[in-house]
Amino acid sequence: MNISLETITALATPTGRGGIGVIRISGPLVPQIAHTLLGHLPPPRYATFKRFVDSSGELIDQGIALYFPAPHSFTGEEVLELQGHGGLIVMDHLLKTIIQLGARLARPGEFSERAFLNGKIDLAQAEAIADLIESSSVQAARCALRSLEGEFSNEIHQLVDKLIELRSYIEASIDFIDEEIDWLADGQIIENIIELIKKIANLLAKAHQGYLLKEGMRIVLVGEPNVGKSSLLNCLAGRETAIVTPIPGTTRDVVRDQIQLEGMPLHITDTAGLRETLDPVEQEGIRRTQLALQEADLVILLLDDRSPDDHAQAHLLAQMPMPPLVIRNKIDLSRHPAGLSEGGVLYLSAKTGAGIEALKNYLQEKMGLHSNPESNFMARRRHLEALQRAQSALTMSLTHAQFSNYELLAEELRQAQQALGEITGEFSADDLLGQIFATFCIGK
Ligand code: GDP
Ligand code: ZN
Repeated sequence: MNISLETITALATPTGRGGIGVIRISGPLVPQIAHTLLGHLPPPRYATFKRFVDSSGELIDQGIALYFPAPHSFTGEEVLELQGHGGLIVMDHLLKTIIQLGARLARPGEFSERAFLNGKIDLAQAEAIADLIESSSVQAARCALRSLEGEFSNEIHQLVDKLIELRSYIEASIDFIDEEIDWLADGQIIENIIELIKKIANLLAKAHQGYLLKEGMRIVLVGEPNVGKSSLLNCLAGRETAIVTPIPGTTRDVVRDQIQLEGMPLHITDTAGLRETLDPVEQEGIRRTQLALQEADLVILLLDDRSPDDHAQAHLLAQMPMPPLVIRNKIDLSRHPAGLSEGGVLYLSAKTGAGIEALKNYLQEKMGLHSNPESNFMARRRHLEALQRAQSALTMSLTHAQFSNYELLAEELRQAQQALGEITGEFSADDLLGQIFATFCIGK
């Protein structure tokens, strides 16, 4: 238990007028504050109708008081919640009185931070609270709720438990290495590690869907100059953002734009293309394109349907970090039917808008809007990165196992465990915690 000496308070409902305004107080001074404010400490976990008075006995408001004794509260500390009338003056008077009685205003996320520090929730759950509040779609809210309920954390814990088991077996065996016994095989170490890698891959896929729902998808549009990248961007965005001109190579810089698709953000980067050039300005554009490609969730390769240019396409494909969605544009000129072909190529016209619906559908599918959100978790980039680090540590450990480097094998397993522990906050630096909670809203 992490006993905090300071008592904190904040308005938990939005500032402004409302039928009800809720003020939260957490910390050791709660009984004392309740005594002055309400006359006495209300019975635990009962909604009690009370008059709220200040230290000079003046009536501030009347409303409901709820007392949650430590450790059975959200923060794990003494907590008092006051539900008064949600007017600016009333709430302000109440807060000032509570501060006079020894509490201080809470920083953003400080209630959740205390809940985490007191072991009431883990870090991934604390983050899910903020993500639930901020979610911009029903699907995102559902994913956040599943993470808040601990389903994501449970999966992480199961992986960590398995890793601890493997590590203790290996570390115990290292000291007694005996040529006669193949203890790696006896412990089914390789099989177990492969199983873990599969489970992490599965978890990564589910977490990535949740991440896309929250953060949106980063799409990079690549293609030769003049194939219609800017036009497609404008067509998707429904407004003029990128410069459309018939002169090749106009989009020298990387143009970024954000559009909404069913409440989900799409971050689109219109690139300068990847052709070889001696022009230093264009070279810089190409360098930025390559950076954008590395961070993309989806790469779209745009071609002019009239000039398939297979040589250029092969060249472009070779530079992609992942297989791109190939779109053939300008079908109004080539007279090809619109839509997704059997080979997975999308035919459209950025000019007439034919085939754009098919593209939007494809994107929604890709973001998991059509899939069953019941199996996805809300995740942040740091979760995905930690899962990937655990994944590569385990892959390395397999190599060490094959070469009988037992110490290195044990070390990789330790690193995998550490990476997973960062997700739930078992191993997290203080500055990371500070960063995470600072983005929360006040009163949470
Ligand atoms: P970018 O260089 O790839 O960004 O290409 P732009 O979007 O600037 O388009 C180049 C030229 O092709 C412009 O004149 C556009 O109007 C034209 N264009 C783009 N898409 C289409 C299309 O689907 N049909 C027709 N007919 N013209 C198009
Ligand atoms: Zn362009």
